[in-house]
Amino acid sequence: MPETAKRKEFQATGKMKAVMGKYFTELAHGAEEGVKTAWCTSVGPAELLRALGFNVHFPENHGAMLGATRMATDLIPLANARGFSPDICSYLTSDVGSYLKGESPLHKMKLPGPPRADVLVFNTNQCRDVKDWFQFYAREWDVPCVGIHTPRAIGDLDECILQDVARQTEALVEPLEEVAGEKLDPDRLKEVIDLSRQCTVLWKAVLDTAASVPSPLTFFDGTIQMGPAVVLRGREDAVDYYEVLLAELKERVAGGVAAVGGERFRIYWEGMPIWGKLKSLSTQFLELATCVVASTYCNSWVFEDLDPDDPFRSMARAYSSIFICRSDDRKEQYIEQMVEKFSVDGILYHDAKTCPSNSNSRYQMPQRLQEKLGKPFLVVNGDLNDLRLYSEEQTRTNIEAFVEQLAQA
Ligand code: SF4
Repeated sequence: MPETAKRKEFQATGKMKAVMGKYFTELAHGAEEGVKTAWCTSVGPAELLRALGFNVHFPENHGAMLGATRMATDLIPLANARGFSPDICSYLTSDVGSYLKGESPLHKMKLPGPPRADVLVFNTNQCRDVKDWFQFYAREWDVPCVGIHTPRAIGDLDECILQDVARQTEALVEPLEEVAGEKLDPDRLKEVIDLSRQCTVLWKAVLDTAASVPSPLTFFDGTIQMGPAVVLRGREDAVDYYEVLLAELKERVAGGVAAVGGERFRIYWEGMPIWGKLKSLSTQFLELATCVVASTYCNSWVFEDLDPDDPFRSMARAYSSIFICRSDDRKEQYIEQMVEKFSVDGILYHDAKTCPSNSNSRYQMPQRLQEKLGKPFLVVNGDLNDLRLYSEEQTRTNIEAFVEQLAQA
């Protein structure tokens, strides 16, 4: 492999591993220390849970670990045998398979598997699967499962929706206080929301450095670096980490350091990562001197609307304006802006078989955007976790042909 085609590690990554390790260790030992555990969907009301003193576990993060370590493909059939279809979310099926078999990537860190929940809290802003997933465990352990039902395909985020979601969020306080055994302290909630907002601002600034030409980071780096933004928002640790990472990225930008040596083309990744193939995809793009500069996925943990002075309404606004629960018109406007901001040459859509909610190539969006923006597109068929649904050879060939097409454009 030529020198230019080597992935450049971040010095900050060591600190990230320490921060994430501390988080997982605290989670594992919470029960012994009398700290209650809440499971939360990745774009659920984590701030509320933190303010009530819960340790917060995000099962989608565990799902992604099962995908990245390629344990998922062997575990999914166990959930299928218990009645969960192979066509539904493969985070759900791999996580349930992991539970049934008692195997988890956390064991490699000498930790037990995911902690047992005292309460499970969902938001259907992303899909229905999260509720079904959490209800499985609620039945297993006989613990409460509560949540927020956010409308989908939202165009204008109007007063009606805002009020409804804010009220649903506020209605969670009482049942959660009951499990927590303490009252919600409004000042603590403000503090947590403030920290969460600081984390968001920094994480967005990290991702925005990729607007520089050449880009100092890739989508593949982003999928690793996003860990604290997902599981530690609302905590100082995440804020401290992104300050360090951002400083390193600014140095890269100032020094003209490219994440992809000899960057020729810039691509936008729409849809879920293919967790078990991040390394080989990252290497292929490096060899093609093509940088995947931005993605919908990594930007899904940017919640700029959070406002400590207006906790419930601002949480409702932040968690109902995410890409995944918006109408196609809004999604297209968003992608259009991203293409311009990051000087994108082409768009890659990942059609993830088991995640229709995060696959946007099925209703003509690529064609509409191509017509509007004049940018070529490629649809890759695959999955987030179930590698039986992914053809490496075919994808490699298609990506090569796509980059060739960009060279001729
Ligand atoms: S959005 Fe997709 S990947 Fe995420 S939980 Fe829902 S179905 Fe699974």
